[in-house]
Amino acid sequence: MPPIYLDYASTTPVDSHILQEFIRVSQDIWGNPSATHQMGQKARAVLEQARYRVAKTLNCTPAQIVFTTTATEANNIVLQSVAQFYVNQGVKPHILVSNIEHASVSDFVNFPSGNVETYPVQPNGIVNIDEIVSRIRPETVLISLMLASNEIGTIQPVQDLVTKIGIINAKRKIQNLPHIRVHTDAVQTPLWMKLDVEELGVDFMILSGHKMYAPKGCGVLFVKDSHNMAKVVFGGGQEREIRSGTQNLAAIHATSLALEQAQDMVSQTSSDMKTIQNYGYELVHKYLPTAIINGDLINRLPNNIHITIPTIDQIVLHTKLDLAGILVSSGSSCGSGSNQRSSVMKAIGNNRQGGDIRISMGRDTTREELSMLCKFISTNSI
Ligand code: PLP
Repeated sequence: MPPIYLDYASTTPVDSHILQEFIRVSQDIWGNPSATHQMGQKARAVLEQARYRVAKTLNCTPAQIVFTTTATEANNIVLQSVAQFYVNQGVKPHILVSNIEHASVSDFVNFPSGNVETYPVQPNGIVNIDEIVSRIRPETVLISLMLASNEIGTIQPVQDLVTKIGIINAKRKIQNLPHIRVHTDAVQTPLWMKLDVEELGVDFMILSGHKMYAPKGCGVLFVKDSHNMAKVVFGGGQEREIRSGTQNLAAIHATSLALEQAQDMVSQTSSDMKTIQNYGYELVHKYLPTAIINGDLINRLPNNIHITIPTIDQIVLHTKLDLAGILVSSGSSCGSGSNQRSSVMKAIGNNRQGGDIRISMGRDTTREELSMLCKFISTNSI
């Protein structure tokens, strides 16, 4: 029997049509997009078509789209380049990041020449905007708030934050203080939420191809305005000098198609997924009555169910599930792959003994798969 895969937040399989396009471009259009000869120009045309497709889908201009290799790289570029810009001006920048960000953002607390401060989420896994605002200082230049959590699926009020910061920025302009920019990691969202960067109002937004049925190897970085960003990747000057290095054309092309497809189908896919998620909640109540569901149930991605089961040892549970061919993760599996209690559980104040399970579903997840998972856990509880 093939494994039951319930770890789509970690990565998705590659859509068959998108895979064909990936192979076609890899085989037929392998010139370097920076080369001036005809093969290079053919590759450049595919690259710019992909950029145009992504920009049209996200409602921005092609010049605002930068392709990277991963979302990790894109997040790093944003934080580093904004911080470095101010460092170069002799200012020690202050950056605010939530305490549930992916490690590619949260690790910046270690940024040597900046001052990166984390702000908390509430026990439901959602931020309180006043809590963020209370931490703003004269030298604050950037606020990171992910659009949806990769671990507990909670959707953050990013648009409301942007509105609030807009009012604050207007006052700061008069005071001659630096403009605060808002960065959002939207990696987990394109299959489930309509994305419009103008409506969202953010300065930076990040996506990753392999979370939306494209192959690995392409991150998407939306940059509203590239002023006040220092160069942090040095090289051939590709991607408007924000991300030097030869572009992974086949993965970029595939990601642009995957994003377009995801957004075209988003309302149907998310409402179908919501029905399955509700069924999943019922199963959890029926078969795992002692389980608690972590994170807000309303402001939440429809493909995420995250539970803590008090009677179960984390490592034993995950080992048993793996041996039975039921593939879930305990937290963010894109990190070290460890089974330790995640920082997100600490952030929402979940100190309960037991095992955490992140069930993350995809387009093909069935009710039967969820049912098999819940029944398996209930019969294998220690
Ligand atoms: N941000 C979030 C919210 C993620 O879930 C992940 C990976 O799981 C990343 C960033 C990193 O993405 P990538 O694997 O493209 O580096």
